[in-house]
Amino acid sequence: MESLAKKILIEAIKDQQAIFGDLLFENVNESVEETLRQKKESIIFADKSETALADNLFVSRNDVRMDSFGGSPEDFQKAESLLDLNNKICECQKCALGKTRTKFVFGVGNPNADAMLIGEAPGRDEDLQGEPFVGRAGKLLNDILKAVHFAREDVYIANILKCRPPNNRDPLPGEMETCIPYLHKQIELIKPKIILCLGRVAANGLLNKKLSLGQLRESTYDFNGIKVMATYHPAALLRNPNWKRGCWEDVQKFRKYYDELHSG
Ligand code: URA
Repeated sequence: MESLAKKILIEAIKDQQAIFGDLLFENVNESVEETLRQKKESIIFADKSETALADNLFVSRNDVRMDSFGGSPEDFQKAESLLDLNNKICECQKCALGKTRTKFVFGVGNPNADAMLIGEAPGRDEDLQGEPFVGRAGKLLNDILKAVHFAREDVYIANILKCRPPNNRDPLPGEMETCIPYLHKQIELIKPKIILCLGRVAANGLLNKKLSLGQLRESTYDFNGIKVMATYHPAALLRNPNWKRGCWEDVQKFRKYYDELHSG
């Protein structure tokens, strides 16, 4: 019982953090626990000597294998297509998550999409299947997309992190810094006209800001000439269905902007 109460309390705090961001949690961030976590991270990052093999060569639900293409994370900037990029980075070991992942989760969808959706990091189901947003949150995301007349295949879906953080913990700053150039390259290749960030972590990560979700939802932003919006993460909506109304308003706006940009 005690651990159930603790779990509920943690979920409630996470919900509050999803809306208000770190502003309410400054003391928590400075806690001993956080300091220890950062120390541990720097130790893990220092240990780059081991290599691990990955069998995660999937780029989409069609399970296209690309082991014949060759490449390495170091020259990923030269990639000329998403297939080429995936092949160059899918065995990445630049951070400690390379050792704990099951599959590298590159991204999925229309490589020429005008709309892109960006989440935080793969969860358990995504790690097992090698595709973003395939678990419960993914099913809700599909329904949200459907409600504004998008099929999952119309858009491109990717995450800030390509590998699952153990126990779905929040991405560490060092992990985000290491992984985000891959997302930037994906965006460069896809050339979307509009991006919807799912949740505070994804939006702040892409925009390099430290805002609360409430602040992020109030405006639209620019990333290299691309319009960017933020809304709730579907997992947050599963925990707190009261936020679905706000999400509905956001995605209707997203659809309206998309229609304007797509036809213009
Ligand atoms: N949550 C995310 O942010 N991304 C996924 O791919 C799945 C869950």
